[in-house]
Amino acid sequence: MPVPKRKRSRARRDSRFANKGIKAKALATCRNCGSTLEPHQVCAQCGHYKGVKVMVTKLERMIKRGQTRKAQQEKMQARQKTEPTPAAE
Ligand SMILES: [Zn+2]
Repeated sequence: MPVPKRKRSRARRDSRFANKGIKAKALATCRNCGSTLEPHQVCAQCGHYKGVKVMVTKLERMIKRGQTRKAQQEKMQARQKTEPTPAAE
């Protein structure tokens, strides 16, 4: 019958049980969009907390940035059409 050559140290033995007490993380659902999130955290998907909008999400920031850029580009193009550049004269 095979027998272990050496005694397993306390550290090695106890490290086996180190993960025993870990429980699965409690999860809550967003009241606004229904996505899964940690309890007492603002929803990263929609920026709501307890059904109230409290934060601007990354996606919303990106959308707003794109809109402002587009508006600026349109303004520049309109200015170029009305005012010819001094080099062209
Ligand atoms: Zn949400």
